[in-house]
Amino acid sequence: MSIKENIKKVRERIADAALKCGRKPDEILLMGVTKTRTVDEIEEALNYNSLTLKDGLYLDLIGENRVQEAMEKKSKLNIENLKLNLIGHLQANKARKAVEIFDMIQSIDSPEIAERVDKISLEFGKIMPVLIEINTSGEASKTGVNPEKFYELLDNVLKLKNLRLEGLMTVGPISDDEKIIRSSFAMLRKFAEEARSRSGLELKILSMGMSDDFEYAVMEGSTQVRIGSLIFGSRSGRF
Ligand SMILES: *Cc1c(COP(=O)(O)O)cnc(C)c1O
Repeated sequence: MSIKENIKKVRERIADAALKCGRKPDEILLMGVTKTRTVDEIEEALNYNSLTLKDGLYLDLIGENRVQEAMEKKSKLNIENLKLNLIGHLQANKARKAVEIFDMIQSIDSPEIAERVDKISLEFGKIMPVLIEINTSGEASKTGVNPEKFYELLDNVLKLKNLRLEGLMTVGPISDDEKIIRSSFAMLRKFAEEARSRSGLELKILSMGMSDDFEYAVMEGSTQVRIGSLIFGSRSGRF
């Protein structure tokens, strides 16, 4: 299967899931997750992007997990029309580069990293779009703020003038159980609803759903799904 066919398939599955729950397919953006992929592989997807815009077979966004890797690839790619999102955990010592190269940081998960990104954004004269990542599954291996610390972090982020909070992000649990997976995504949606009434902000973005669980995420209100292996093939052994 080619990358183009894979994108088409994913788009069809997003549309099916959306229609099943009374949503419009175009409410859900498709992020291509390009971590571990070579510049050539990404370019293939980007070529399709410019050729197939009309047919709807394109990526809306791209996501990378690691600052260094994203930096090396960004300089070799023509991605001006595609917003580059950081979706992996951000370390303080990488914050400067992250502010420099990413259009959005989706993985704000502590007051410390929020403050650091805010301070650097001020230096750059930039308002940095961010999402707060919540660990909705409670799995120890997952990043994201613990749900019980979410409101404290939210209040911190809302005070920072050089960050623009646009929504929430989560990674679903490792499970085959629809109920368990959906309750994780439903938790993110409920936190977003509460955060909207607390802040008065729109907080439109719910970034949730990956190759194995994006249909459930769509049913729970996802506005962008982050898809790697279903588009570019399996990463086994590579990440
Ligand atoms: C790797 C990754 C994805 C994509 O995962 P696939 O299962 O390959 O679709 C999405 N979100 C995050 C945060 C990731 O690390």
